[in-house]
Amino acid sequence: MAYKIAVVGIGKIARDQHIPCIRKNRNFKLVAGVSRHGTIEDVPCFHSIAELQKSKLAVDAVALCTPPAVRLAMARECLDAGWHVLIEKPPTPTVGELLAMEAHAKKKRRVLYATWHSRYNKSVDEAKAKLKGKTVNFLRVVWKEDVNKWHPGQQWIWEPGGFGVLDPGINALSIVTKIMPEPIFVEEATIEVPSNSATPIAAEIRFKRGDGLSSDMTASMDWRQTTGETWEIEIGTKDGLKLHLKNGGSVLVVNGMTVRKAVLHEYEDIYAKFARLLKARKSDVDASPLQLISDCFMLGRPVVGKPFAWRDA
Ligand code: NAP
Repeated sequence: MAYKIAVVGIGKIARDQHIPCIRKNRNFKLVAGVSRHGTIEDVPCFHSIAELQKSKLAVDAVALCTPPAVRLAMARECLDAGWHVLIEKPPTPTVGELLAMEAHAKKKRRVLYATWHSRYNKSVDEAKAKLKGKTVNFLRVVWKEDVNKWHPGQQWIWEPGGFGVLDPGINALSIVTKIMPEPIFVEEATIEVPSNSATPIAAEIRFKRGDGLSSDMTASMDWRQTTGETWEIEIGTKDGLKLHLKNGGSVLVVNGMTVRKAVLHEYEDIYAKFARLLKARKSDVDASPLQLISDCFMLGRPVVGKPFAWRDA
């Protein structure tokens, strides 16, 4: 039996990934969309979750593809309706909201799947296996891209709860938190916020180990790079292993040798996993990337920068 699923928030990621991946997965049947403006071909669309519920259409699960700031209330509404919930990254604007959402899903005995799409690739899995049991003392994350190319016309990313450059930056940290053999912590950060925005356009973060051992671990994120993307993670261990994840984590270089170029099917893998979670009635919620980003805001030194002219769609 296919799970009947509705997509909520018909924006860029819903159209690019969720709708096509749901349509090609035999475990799911796309039955509805919820959107204030958009529509999905061949399925009924409703203006709100309440309208979808009122329609009495049979629904088993929803994929929430809206920005994080509005997700908690939406997730609760869906869980209260008896539907299982998949959410895009970053899950919520704060760790507190994610914990509340997780507790609500548990109370309602429904599956909550907080996805981290950048974690789904074979090079990332291989890097995790290679780091098992090692002592990491070096980390260099460089995550730079052009905001006007990747988020054209998206006003929400510049508003509180929109994360700014930490929205793509959390993808890097979702990989880091997956592959690190031990958790790392934010030591200090500098966060540059344009004077016409509430969220950062650039961030420099220094991390530390939890055991006080000396290390050199940093992340550099910037949304003003107009010469293509730099999405790279380098890791070094005490016993001399050097890993380099390039191209958003899909290419793995070990001690200077390219050992894997992964073919990306992140969202296909996400829906395959959602089907497994639904079958097992198990939730999957990992707050660790969000915790690190939260800690950047908590410990970060804010710097107000020049106003930034972002492009409309
Ligand atoms: P988007 O293009 O702005 O789409 C978000 C949609 O959410 C809007 O089209 C809107 O749809 C709906 N929405 C509901 N309440 C809203 C509100 N208060 N403010 C703004 N929109 C609201 O954004 P997106 O790029 O798809 O990103 C959505 C989520 O996916 C984010 O968490 C982002 O980090 C994640 N993501 C994005 C990408 C990417 O390449 N863009 C990649 C991976 C993950 P309606 O008008 O239909 O209601």
